[in-house]
Amino acid sequence: MDQPEFFAEGALVNVLTTQPLDRTLDYRAPEGGCAQGAYVQVPLGPRQVLGVVWGPGRGDFDYAKIRPVTRVLNVAPMRDELREFLIRAGEYTLTPIDSMLRLATRAPGLSDPPSMQKVYRLGDQTPDRMTDARTRVLAVLEEYGGLAFTLKELADMAGTSSSVVKGLVTQGAVLEEATPRDTPYPALDLDRSGKPLTGDQENAATRLRAGLQSESYGTTLLRGVTGSGKTEVYLEAVAECLKLGRQALVLLPEIALTAEFLTRVEARFGARPAEWHSGVTMTERRRAWKMVGQGGAQLVVGARSALFLPFRDLGLIVVDEEHDNSYKQEDGSLYNARDMAVLRAAICGARVVLASATPSLESWANAEAGKYERIDMTDRFGPAILPDMSAIDMRSEAMSSGKWISPSLQGEVRQRMEKGEQALLFLNRRGYAPVTLCRACGEQIECEHCSASMVEHRFLKRLVCHQCGESRPMPEKCPSCEAEGTLAPIGPGVERLAEEAAELFPDARIATLSSDLFGSARALKAGIEAIAQGGADIIIGTQLVAKGHNFPLLTLVGVIDADLGLQGSDLRAAERTFQLMRQVAGRAGRSERKGAALLQTYQPEHPVIRAILDGDEESFWQAEADQRRAAGMPPYGRLAGIILSSPDPQAPFQFGTTLARHDGPLREIGAQLFGPAAAPIARIRGRHRVRLLVKAPKGAPLQQAITKWLAPARLPKDMRLAVDIDPQSFY
Ligand code: ADP
Ligand code: ZN
Repeated sequence: MDQPEFFAEGALVNVLTTQPLDRTLDYRAPEGGCAQGAYVQVPLGPRQVLGVVWGPGRGDFDYAKIRPVTRVLNVAPMRDELREFLIRAGEYTLTPIDSMLRLATRAPGLSDPPSMQKVYRLGDQTPDRMTDARTRVLAVLEEYGGLAFTLKELADMAGTSSSVVKGLVTQGAVLEEATPRDTPYPALDLDRSGKPLTGDQENAATRLRAGLQSESYGTTLLRGVTGSGKTEVYLEAVAECLKLGRQALVLLPEIALTAEFLTRVEARFGARPAEWHSGVTMTERRRAWKMVGQGGAQLVVGARSALFLPFRDLGLIVVDEEHDNSYKQEDGSLYNARDMAVLRAAICGARVVLASATPSLESWANAEAGKYERIDMTDRFGPAILPDMSAIDMRSEAMSSGKWISPSLQGEVRQRMEKGEQALLFLNRRGYAPVTLCRACGEQIECEHCSASMVEHRFLKRLVCHQCGESRPMPEKCPSCEAEGTLAPIGPGVERLAEEAAELFPDARIATLSSDLFGSARALKAGIEAIAQGGADIIIGTQLVAKGHNFPLLTLVGVIDADLGLQGSDLRAAERTFQLMRQVAGRAGRSERKGAALLQTYQPEHPVIRAILDGDEESFWQAEADQRRAAGMPPYGRLAGIILSSPDPQAPFQFGTTLARHDGPLREIGAQLFGPAAAPIARIRGRHRVRLLVKAPKGAPLQQAITKWLAPARLPKDMRLAVDIDPQSFY
């Protein structure tokens, strides 16, 4: 890369700040000057704000009034590649550039001077009195030679209190020193080799390595059944990338998965990589941000926002479970991390690996069209084989009301318990019952702020709105007719299912895995580990269990309601049901024991259910693709959602109608506009919601047309407008 342009003291520079200003501002370069891309602190009114030197000043303002940059931060300047990524990602998602810069600077204390921390190493004095605890502390320090530890690390390793260490410091036997807190991550050992690969795996790894050696952009869809060793294979690609001296990023859809993954990285490379997600402490976030920019971090494992880190030389992005919904951010900036990964890689000349057992139709279609390379891994590793899948036809099961586990499924669970194996009952609904109804007056309890029914959580003894999170104690009387003891749960949630299972299998140890039943990510991780080690006979789980965890003793998956996802009119209902069912079924039989998956369904003839059972994925994708192509729907056409919301129930509809009347710029590109119509969830947090949907032909300049269409619009007071390019869900 060329040397960045440099501005000498006093020269005019144009600065993009993280403030929502709609424009960049001129400042004077400070003493010592500043480089293009430098992260700076600048005065804005009475405040000091964060910004980036975006280019030479425009000079359209009285020089005498222009204030100097306050200071240049001691971090690597933003590279052209990241700058271009932010601009293009902002243009694609119609997000203002200042919001993009905020995404790229989400590390606290970047403007603080480097903070110091105290570390402890071996001194040369002998303490006048030795105790067992003191001996242990000195033994730890001797064992690790010249290494320094933090107080807590050292005390923990020696199994003693920090006062013992402090005592040794007074004696000169241990030295206390201050070092900068933001230190580089330990180097990963690239000479170690991974597990010996099978033929299939080796072929896949060889192709990925070849892509990396080309040092140019390219995306590969790595499709392989759960347990086929995709992770082992892409770790080989990571190793190759790091050997080439470039950095790698692995994105995971769920924080709960990072712990298991970090352990695997440590086993593979002998050290832990940098971590970036909401569960990481603020200090660690700052360290990760700085080290990524300085090259002090080779590998980052993280959530979607890690895509905006200031990598020095990013050579590989892995998007694991690429079909996962959580890659699409649904609040704040609406971006799809999978698509943005491809964009960033194209700009910086990196490779992308999209790994999944059940790819999204988008990625499948890109591979079909030859835009992505596709690698298929069909065998599970070792003795593990794919589970048998079959349906339980609920129309011929004797079910009593308020019960959900069919006699056939009960029999299968019993057999597993007798063999000391585990069974999973899967239901993608948190809480006790999705609906609470008054048997006297028929009133259904809804959230006061949303048009969503309140979900009973018996464990918490509360009603919870899954839309806005609002909760209240379970009422004793019907809020409408005030009758007592008439409120009845309707339908099943995992808590209710657990209750039924406990009645049916009084001797079983039952564990419920639902994200809301664990206080923290750590507790959840511990829970999952205990279950994996055999701490439960029956696991009751929501979609949390579908995501990549390993349960070696699990041999039966019972899907309580396979029809659940097929209701509703979502474009992706079939695709999602297909993916979720296959993912869940993939949990069974991951070690030597063969697994089975049983789907309880009232419509065993439904094409999606049949495709799931047949396991004929290619024909499922073909059929789904044909339908979408015929309808001009994504990925063969483009969609954008416009959500208007306001506390006033009428205003969004009126405003939407005005927008619809002036849709000339949309028609110019051959796009159609639908709506305004009440959004599927018509009220959230007290705001009434109306949506418009733009449908455009595949190659049309959708973003430009929308910008042109909305530019003249003046939003009424309290009205919010959000544009969602390529919407994933319709709510
Ligand atoms: P996937 O990511 O496709 O679900 P993993 O890479 O997690 O599959 O592999 C599944 C399990 O099999 C893991 O426990 C992994 O360590 C093990 N495994 C896969 N390939 C090998 C191999 N070549 N040698 C040893 N163990 C392997
Ligand atoms: Zn609500």
